[in-house]
Amino acid sequence: MELAPRDVVSRAEMTEILEGRGFPGPKGLDYVHLDLTHLGVKEINSKLPLVREVCLKFSGIDPIEEPIPIRPAAHYPMGGVKVNLKGRTEVPNLWAAGEVANVSVHGANRLGTNSTAECLVWGRITGEEAALYLMRNGVKGTSSPSKEDLLGREEEIFSLFRERGEDPYLIRKELGELMDKYFHVIRSGEGMREGLKRIRSLIESSKEIQVQDSSKEYNTDLIYALETRNLLEVAEVIALSALRREESRGSHYRVDYPNRDDENWLKHTLVRKGPRGLEISYEPVRIKIWKPVERRY
Ligand SMILES: Cc1cc2nc3c(=O)[nH]c(=O)nc-3n(C[C@H](O)[C@H](O)[C@H](O)COP(=O)(O)OP(=O)(O)OC[C@H]3O[C@@H](n4cnc5c(N)ncnc54)[C@H](O)[C@@H]3O)c2cc1C
Repeated sequence: MELAPRDVVSRAEMTEILEGRGFPGPKGLDYVHLDLTHLGVKEINSKLPLVREVCLKFSGIDPIEEPIPIRPAAHYPMGGVKVNLKGRTEVPNLWAAGEVANVSVHGANRLGTNSTAECLVWGRITGEEAALYLMRNGVKGTSSPSKEDLLGREEEIFSLFRERGEDPYLIRKELGELMDKYFHVIRSGEGMREGLKRIRSLIESSKEIQVQDSSKEYNTDLIYALETRNLLEVAEVIALSALRREESRGSHYRVDYPNRDDENWLKHTLVRKGPRGLEISYEPVRIKIWKPVERRY
């Protein structure tokens, strides 16, 4: 089990917790134990020094002597801004690389250490491509926003310094809690529908956000509020695509559709912002050498 992919291990952990075999944790966040004690001092100090250091620093627990309390947490989004193999997005003059980009090398379940490998490979490819494009084409074709657009955006931002309004800190807290409840390791259609409804209600509230600190330099309250709005947009994309995908695949596991369904769902989900909200479409997965097979452990 320890060497199984992380979606399998996460589900095993959450099953123990949800079926009442976990240990009671703070704020209802129960946990299970990861026991390394059998490895002994020498092995832990030589092979897992960082793990030991993190345990000691953050929970005062020495894994040489006692088990580590653990539970799955959001770690990496399998998906992102759609790019081609050279890191180019559909938006003119915009490239993306790293965790934010979806070159589509990870499928529905990224394997350990592959993110930094992707960052290194596509960081270089994308950087070179963007630089080459600029050298060949100059900045022509780029349109700067008009003065009116900029003033409009500025006015919109300054309107957040209103007298009364919604607290961005509470909105973000509620968003975190509901994502943890409805879009965590084990999902269901019913839960995700409720989660999506609540995300949309938070999006409405976020239109009335009040930023208390109205300073115009280094305003971390303002950054927090703007980032909260971005998080809500991303949350809606995650929620809608997860709800529509009526199967289980990689880290997306639904109790109401527990099996992978290649016949209907071997495809990428694309979400775009349309005039009436989010628009979903699908694209086939191009399979060349490795045909998908059933996973067995
Ligand atoms: C706990 C944990 C453990 C992990 N362990 C591993 C592992 O063992 N192996 C592995 O391969 N991967 C691991 N990952 C994943 C990997 O670390 C990340 O996917 C990778 O570091 C992402 O790098 P990045 O440069 O694409 O993005 P980031 O490191 O997120 O960098 C993005 C940068 O952009 C900045 N930024 C954001 N908004 C703006 C803005 N508006 N203007 C300017 N700057 C901005 C941010 O401050 C940040 O510095 C782990 C992730 C986590 C959370």
